[in-house]
Amino acid sequence: MKKIINISLLMALVCAFSFVNISCSDDDDESTKPKITDFECSPAVNPGKDLHVETNITAVEKIKRIDVEIHSESDSDYEINETYTNGKYIDVQNTLFHEHIDIPQDAPLGEYHLHFTVTDGKGQTTSHKCHIEVTDQLLIHNDDHDDE
Ligand SMILES: [Zn+2]
Ligand SMILES: [Zn+2]
Repeated sequence: MKKIINISLLMALVCAFSFVNISCSDDDDESTKPKITDFECSPAVNPGKDLHVETNITAVEKIKRIDVEIHSESDSDYEINETYTNGKYIDVQNTLFHEHIDIPQDAPLGEYHLHFTVTDGKGQTTSHKCHIEVTDQLLIHNDDHDDE
């Protein structure tokens, strides 16, 4: 009986200790990391057309770099990369990112991931992922809007 109590007490201590540890380090990181909110991307796109990506970014330590990586889930070698290291999105604390990324005519059809990564002045990163279907079916563009 005594042994059981000791073990459960030990477990409780370990749990409490690791919980405090986890929540502490989370607080430290999350408060100054870049934040990506209201993320939008076109869910489907035809080869040869462009893909709408729009999101709010806030970064206490200022935005230093934005990486957009679009990779095929079916053809692991196929990747489209866009990197922004200067211009209106860089060296600011908040911005509305809005770009149309060209999908080449020869892009293989199928499912893609888009990985959107923001790096701040301290080298901290925050990422967001969305799924895209590259399809040859006729798409009714529901994200048509005035392009700036
Ligand atoms: Zn757009
Ligand atoms: Zn992926």
